[in-house]
Amino acid sequence: MLHILMFLLGTCIGSFINVIFSRKDWFRGRSRCDNCGYVLKWYDMIPLISYILLLGECRKCKNKIDYSHFMSELIMGAAFLCGSLSFEKYGVYYGIVVSAALFSLAVAAIEDYKEQMVYNFILNGGIITTLAAKIILIKAGMGNITITFAILSVLILKLIGWIGNFAFKGKIGAGDFDAFIILYILGEWQSLFLSLTFAGVIGCIIYLPQIILKKKERKEPLPFIPLIFAGAVCSLLI
Ligand SMILES: [Zn+2]
Repeated sequence: MLHILMFLLGTCIGSFINVIFSRKDWFRGRSRCDNCGYVLKWYDMIPLISYILLLGECRKCKNKIDYSHFMSELIMGAAFLCGSLSFEKYGVYYGIVVSAALFSLAVAAIEDYKEQMVYNFILNGGIITTLAAKIILIKAGMGNITITFAILSVLILKLIGWIGNFAFKGKIGAGDFDAFIILYILGEWQSLFLSLTFAGVIGCIIYLPQIILKKKERKEPLPFIPLIFAGAVCSLLI
């Protein structure tokens, strides 16, 4: 029951974050259809369910609603559900680490969907928050590495990221590397490799048919952080 509540809370927060990224004037006025200005009623704003019932169209003008609304709610719902399950599965301390990592990856994934880029401060904030949670876990005597090692390895990875970004300017998304660092903090190399393996499999399942059917140009940048996020969720739940 608690897990379901956490999932629902997550979908609401995902919906809210999506609105913040979509409209700069989100703090005033009610939600409207971007196309016809129809003011949304409460029953048009139930996370996930409204989108499905409306078949992704505005109630009034039938204009397509951007599917990033649905994805944002789903991603953040999954983050909260998985965080909540981790508290039960791995205990409080690791539950905090998982929640910090998944929340920041989810925010980054939502933004990646919407704008095909991620602000640096979101992923850097995620790295710092997850590392802080990890330090608390090690202090409680539950980590298999020391605090010094944890901080040093993150700094070294960050340095490699900077050099890589400088050397292959624009070729590799700098945000993707920061997401790798968050996965590394989560559970060292094991967690990183497991999550990336899942991300690769999920990516093939979703994108290969689209590329084969030529719906998507291969040159079009694929949102990668949502895949990393999905990979992390799978690796934590198995
Ligand atoms: Zn409309």
